[in-house]
Amino acid sequence: MKWKNEMRECVRTLEDLEEFVCYDDSERARIAEILERAPMAVPRYYLSLIDFDDPEDPIRKLAIPSLLEADPSGSLDTSGEADNTVVNGLQHKYRETAMMLSTNECAMYCRHCFRKRLVGLPDEGIARDLEAIGAYLSEHDEITNVLVSGGDALLNSNEHIAAILDTLTAIPHLDFIRIATRVPVTLPSRITSDGALLDVLGRAREKKQLFMVTQFDHPREVTPEAAASVRAVLDLGIPVRNQTVLLRGVNDDPEVLGSLLQKLTSIGAEPYYVFQCRPVTGVKNQFQVPLKEGCRIVEGAKAMQNGIGKSFRYCMSHVTGKIEILGELGDGSMVFKYHEAKDRRNLGRVFAREVADDQAWFE
Ligand code: SF4
Repeated sequence: MKWKNEMRECVRTLEDLEEFVCYDDSERARIAEILERAPMAVPRYYLSLIDFDDPEDPIRKLAIPSLLEADPSGSLDTSGEADNTVVNGLQHKYRETAMMLSTNECAMYCRHCFRKRLVGLPDEGIARDLEAIGAYLSEHDEITNVLVSGGDALLNSNEHIAAILDTLTAIPHLDFIRIATRVPVTLPSRITSDGALLDVLGRAREKKQLFMVTQFDHPREVTPEAAASVRAVLDLGIPVRNQTVLLRGVNDDPEVLGSLLQKLTSIGAEPYYVFQCRPVTGVKNQFQVPLKEGCRIVEGAKAMQNGIGKSFRYCMSHVTGKIEILGELGDGSMVFKYHEAKDRRNLGRVFAREVADDQAWFE
């Protein structure tokens, strides 16, 4: 099958990478160290989107390791995921929503990933016991929806995806299931060349409403191949919604972000969230944009949209909840609102806070 061949041909090693990038001896040693902690995988399809003549190419930054990843500041679990784990691989942070870590594999290991502690590494935190997960969900009828995440949920085998969806669709109080995947962006053939996967998704869709949540970060990722994979999912009656991460050097420009949101709306991948990049070790130094600057970029991008393209929220996934970043006041402070909250007393709470011009997160 085409996508399996593409996975076999991924660029994974320093030697593979040196076909495209030149390193001196010191750089080679430092990149090798980074790859020990944060593996690389780049499908040839995604590689074809990179302009290797441009060291500042935004697509390259998303896929190819940088020496900036050696910076040890930050945290590997910025949202407190370990504290919210109720069964191995299942998190229950918000009352109505559970989240399953279904695999530690992805088609591509994004350099800005907030789950660097997990992706491509040993899989202790991954959901293996579907029976235990089904039992927990069945006992908690306040849970109305499950996000099947990873890693990349569509990097599971078709058989395992079917088993997960069979477990979830059998639970009467679940209203819908979300599938989190970046394959429409990084490996669209996973969807377009595998009719059996579409059959699995289509059968589950007959039993329960499914949504697909994906992550396009730059307008050049919205290719005809990507659009075809989104279309194949939409044709099953599964809406596709997109979460973009605001990233320095990638989409930190109102025109670039605005163009991305326009293209996404045009292919039916509705803009859902723009996320503030988290202070993840090996990520924050390279990719975080300060909150005030982020707000101006997002507002500029929003001004280029109509209707659906404006319906997303600009949020930070904080340890205390999902906090919407509403805007700046004239006195140096900013206004925020709890969109989701771990402590339900915070739900909907609006608050203002002093924010320094270079501040990109808060404790
Ligand atoms: S696909 Fe998602 S989970 Fe996987 S590396 Fe990229 S951002 Fe991380």
